[in-house]
Amino acid sequence: MTRAFVALGGNLGDTRAALRKALDALDALPHTRLVAHSRFYRTPPWGLREQPPFLNAVAALETALGPHALLDALLGIERAAGRVRDGERWGPRTLDLDLLHVDGVVLEDQRLTLPHPRIAERAFVLLPLAELAPDLELPGQGRVEALLAAVDHAGCVVEP
Ligand code: ADP
Ligand code: MG
Repeated sequence: MTRAFVALGGNLGDTRAALRKALDALDALPHTRLVAHSRFYRTPPWGLREQPPFLNAVAALETALGPHALLDALLGIERAAGRVRDGERWGPRTLDLDLLHVDGVVLEDQRLTLPHPRIAERAFVLLPLAELAPDLELPGQGRVEALLAAVDHAGCVVEP
């Protein structure tokens, strides 16, 4: 079993329900166990500005799935949540699941880059990830706690 971290986000509809369902779906994946998840954060929209705020969280998994099988599983959970990919990148979505990191894995191909290349610039990923793994060293980017200290996360608040 290998440890993997997944970022969850959404800003359309009942985002809290969507994230809870996604956590259940992660735990229900074959050969996979949900070990922990962060609190939920309400965060400013990123990329396109004129859209609702996001709800974000990070999950820690133990899995025997390989990275590409895990990515396929994440895309399947997104589809089941009703996500429509209309080509508008960074636009509003019911559920976005990104594979952040898999222990011991560095790779870049057509479908998948690991670690996820934009962790270091995203407070909405670093804040919840730092709850679970502040000492995690992301190959090529740095230690999670240090990365978090370098970004502005004032706009991100824990959901009660
Ligand atoms: P974003 O999450 O950046 O807003 P999308 O979710 O629409 O964009 O795009 C995801 C696509 O990026 C997937 O189809 C996948 O093939 C590719 N991708 C590459 N690396 C990763 C990764 N580490 N996690 C998730 N998707 C990735
Ligand atoms: Mg995505």
